[in-house]
Amino acid sequence: MADPKSGKIIHEILPVGMLQCNCSIIGDPQTREALVVDPGDEAARILELLAKHALTVKAIVSTHAHIDHVGGLRKMQQATGAPVVMHGDDMDLYRHLDAQAAWIGMRAPDPASVDKLLREGDTLRWGRFEANIMHTPGHTPGSISLYLAPPHDDKAGADVGKLLAGDTLFAGSIGRTDLWGGSLEQILRSIHQKLLLLPDETIVYPGHGAITTIGQERADNPFLELPRSSRR
Ligand SMILES: [Zn+2]
Ligand SMILES: [Zn+2]
Repeated sequence: MADPKSGKIIHEILPVGMLQCNCSIIGDPQTREALVVDPGDEAARILELLAKHALTVKAIVSTHAHIDHVGGLRKMQQATGAPVVMHGDDMDLYRHLDAQAAWIGMRAPDPASVDKLLREGDTLRWGRFEANIMHTPGHTPGSISLYLAPPHDDKAGADVGKLLAGDTLFAGSIGRTDLWGGSLEQILRSIHQKLLLLPDETIVYPGHGAITTIGQERADNPFLELPRSSRR
């Protein structure tokens, strides 16, 4: 029937930089528009892949302002002209990239200008796709997760939702909360009250390491057993 290449989403995942942050390129094969998430480093490699797919970047998003997720923002912004967006509650972190760089012994990248601040409930649209912004604080104050609902016109039912979880939820683990602005109570609330409300089959793309699913983490993630004293 339809051209098999016409419907399928393009999703490239490249671990970049010293800390191997998973950068995602999510493209619409029809309109050739793309969203780039967490270009933490290696902008040249990301740009090469965009060129290979002939994609135009509509927005560049960081799930949070840790240096391994924002290091390539400026180069990506300069090369593509696309707006850089992140949650406002991480702007303090972003303004102190030099301090973050010093902690891990690297040079601070030049900051990008942040074009728009995201909030809970915002929607990013590109091509035929959209991502809902969920504010999921705890790893940092302004950590977000991006949810791409399954396409409505998917007759075969083969496609499922995708969650780009940043450093909030990992396969078998959760983000660390001992860095500046972190809170264990908040991250658990974010995961239980937002992420775990998604369908079990939702594929989770964490900020580092392996892909997982909401169902898998709900069943097996040892960090998500609710403490008996949980207040909410
Ligand atoms: Zn982080
Ligand atoms: Zn990270």
